[in-house]
Amino acid sequence: MTITNAQTGEREPSLLHRSLIESPQKVISGSGIYLTLADGSRILDGCCGAAVSVIGHGNKQVQEAIMQQHASIEYVHTMAYTTSSAEELADALTELSKPFGLTKAYFVCSGSEAVDAAMKLARQYHVENGQPQRKRFVARRQAYHGNTIGAMSVSSNLPRKIPYEGVLTLDNVSFVSPTYAYRGQRDAETEEQYAARLVQELDDEFQRVGPETVIAFVAETVGGATAACITPPRGYLEGVRKVCGRYGILLILDEIMCGSGRTGSYFAFEREGDVRPDLVTLGKGLGGGYAPIAGVLISEKVVEVLKRGSASFVHGHTYQAHPACCAAGLAVQQIIKRDDLVAKCFSRGALLESRLRSALGDAKYVGEIRGRGLFLGIEFVQDRASKEPFKSAVKFASRMQEAAHSRGLAVYPGSGTVDGVNGDHVIVAPPLTITEEE
Ligand code: PLP
Repeated sequence: MTITNAQTGEREPSLLHRSLIESPQKVISGSGIYLTLADGSRILDGCCGAAVSVIGHGNKQVQEAIMQQHASIEYVHTMAYTTSSAEELADALTELSKPFGLTKAYFVCSGSEAVDAAMKLARQYHVENGQPQRKRFVARRQAYHGNTIGAMSVSSNLPRKIPYEGVLTLDNVSFVSPTYAYRGQRDAETEEQYAARLVQELDDEFQRVGPETVIAFVAETVGGATAACITPPRGYLEGVRKVCGRYGILLILDEIMCGSGRTGSYFAFEREGDVRPDLVTLGKGLGGGYAPIAGVLISEKVVEVLKRGSASFVHGHTYQAHPACCAAGLAVQQIIKRDDLVAKCFSRGALLESRLRSALGDAKYVGEIRGRGLFLGIEFVQDRASKEPFKSAVKFASRMQEAAHSRGLAVYPGSGTVDGVNGDHVIVAPPLTITEEE
């Protein structure tokens, strides 16, 4: 039976879309930086969905890698078996991460699962290290770490979180200020002083809850979905690393959106000084949209404790390290390396940023243009002088998204509410393969 929408008379979709009123536009194909819609129009993918499609669309080499994997073996259960694609993807990533002490990789199917896995690894580390009293996490406001209960608990995407607060989220989490210089840095403060104040706030929070009770501090290196490409102030992450280290608290860096080369270094933390995280999550750009794959990179310190303890990670998913997903991820990573996309991302990002600044820097509703590499955010305000945001009902970012779409450009809208301030923004994050001309 076909169900029709009573208001429009159109056939009601069986698929539960994000909106129950409006269906999204249907995409029929993609090539390079372009998407083609069912009505024939072409859209320049200026945001890769949500910063996902790092090598663009329709890459034949990745398609071939997935098909070859399927032709040999499509699935094995990791309890008993492994595959070359999973082992090689782990090798490729740890080759990049070993200089920072991260020696093993664990693969799942989504960023949220990766964050949950990192949180559980961190808890298990402390239990097996003789510190079972550590039961708390500290995270930042204006952060998004995912939709599952664990990941949502350390997130501050309030519309997604509030309905489940006290029902489906963990309550042993507390929050500190985001790195949000546009609104948070005081006039009299230098960047370094602002960073030091934020680090002190984290230290104070550890003292308040008892540092011996904290499992880990969880943070996005460069704030993404609810922050729109906020890079930390100079010295912040080094300061955070020191404070966590002082109390034996693990540092989990979430690079699901900002990692995989997106900010012009493979890991965003590489540009933040001498920072060695204990666990790093990756997603989005890991599979570049060709397959659902995300992962956790794990430091030798954590691995050693688990090895001496239970010698296993008490966790597991049916589809972890899925062969076809790993094959896709491996092919994407090989292309990033072969085509020097990380370095290109840095220089093209600088070009795009300067173009955005000259085109939009003085525009009436543009409060700030920020970010790094091909990960740029534009925050909109009602009034530039007072930085007064739009009322949330105005949905300015969504209107900008629609306006851009009608001109053939996809951008990613968001409105991260921080301390009652609704920061409307869009993210511009095209494929790292984009040419200067494009
Ligand atoms: N962490 C960050 C920083 C993200 O941006 C996201 C998704 O936007 C997630 C985690 C969750 O990833 P996923 O949507 O794949 O579950």
